[in-house]
Amino acid sequence: MRSLLPLAMEGCHTQDIEALPSYMLRLAAVHGVTLGDLIRHVARGTLEENALVAASRGQPISTLVRPNATSVLFASVIAETRAENIYNLERGTFALLSPALARSPSTFTHRLRWCPACFREQRLEAGNAYFKLAWFLAAIGACDRHRIILRDCCPHCGQCPKPWSEWTRFDRCQNCNERMDVVTTSDAVTHDPELLASDLIALVGEIAVATGPFQVGAACRYLNRVFDEAWQHEKEGELWNRVPRDDCIRYCNPEEPMTLGVVRRLAYQLEIPIADFLRGVDGANQSFGFAATCPLPRSMRAAHRQGVIDAPILVKQMELFLDDGVTPVSLREVARQLGVSVGALRYHAPMLASKLVARSEQYRRTIHTQKDTAVVRAVLDGVRSWSVGSVSPIAKKPLLRMLRNQTGLPKEKLRKAIQRLLRDQVA
Ligand SMILES: [Zn+2]
Ligand SMILES: [Zn+2]
Repeated sequence: MRSLLPLAMEGCHTQDIEALPSYMLRLAAVHGVTLGDLIRHVARGTLEENALVAASRGQPISTLVRPNATSVLFASVIAETRAENIYNLERGTFALLSPALARSPSTFTHRLRWCPACFREQRLEAGNAYFKLAWFLAAIGACDRHRIILRDCCPHCGQCPKPWSEWTRFDRCQNCNERMDVVTTSDAVTHDPELLASDLIALVGEIAVATGPFQVGAACRYLNRVFDEAWQHEKEGELWNRVPRDDCIRYCNPEEPMTLGVVRRLAYQLEIPIADFLRGVDGANQSFGFAATCPLPRSMRAAHRQGVIDAPILVKQMELFLDDGVTPVSLREVARQLGVSVGALRYHAPMLASKLVARSEQYRRTIHTQKDTAVVRAVLDGVRSWSVGSVSPIAKKPLLRMLRNQTGLPKEKLRKAIQRLLRDQVA
């Protein structure tokens, strides 16, 4: 049992919730080891050992808040040590957003950032400083409570934290040992609402108490309802004054991915909290009040997109994807490479779009079949070499681990194939 001493995550159930990387750093410090040692310890003997150790190498620790499988994996292996429960650990990341949102690396910061006044308060209230989850969102530039611009390096010696080196307490600089929890003359205060990003702080607060993941497609369905309602009441003009027509049509398409930046912009324009928009909660769109007429804040504006689509050129570009020498890709990938939306492809060249979809589906099925064959072959070879090399009966888990390491084939497929083969042998 890879058990560890219990350590409570800070700020649970509030918008001040601690980030998973911060918790892991504190957990390592409590056990008197480095972060690398901690990860190797919790990973040892698990099926995902290689993946965990590899994921911790060469990438900033801050990436462990991102909505992806790696963050969830780290949260679950730490939960297995009983240091903290999975509910809290998962909410120290943005993992619950992952079904609803498309990936966008620029949403998150690479560096650890903090507010010195918060560090001080945390130390006085809880006995130790910690990094809040909200500080990992790139669009949040200042502390919502003290209005201090977040720091990313020591104000005394200028060194940034090195999380992989020994770091026993965050309120001291690893390099010069000066205090990191004191506001200095180099700290700037701001009242800029864009840097304070209260809408994102509120979203973190919702994540901290969410009962489950934010479901895929709910925001799109909400937008469609708003659009339908505007249509019925002949108020499209008013709607398009708030949400530009192209954006509205684009994101009403369920295939069009929404990043956090897009969701934030649409929620702002529709005047509802981001979490409500992501849940597709009704209510805010009844009146079409659209009271606010001020322009969209700078940080929320969409990146410049190609204005007018030249249909004949688009068709020619799409045809290139049907060439025999080109590896088939999904329609979404074609759209991405051509810098247009999936909806635009379907609108300007419906037949071509269908052909591209059929071709990529066919390709996907072929790859699938090839993988299935490879899995069966690998399992047969594995069982054969087991019988040659060992007198003990075949054990499923070690066999699975061996095959995973040797072939890199999907775990679930291997597991099923092993089960099937062993069952057939018994029969
Ligand atoms: Zn603060
Ligand atoms: Zn320093």
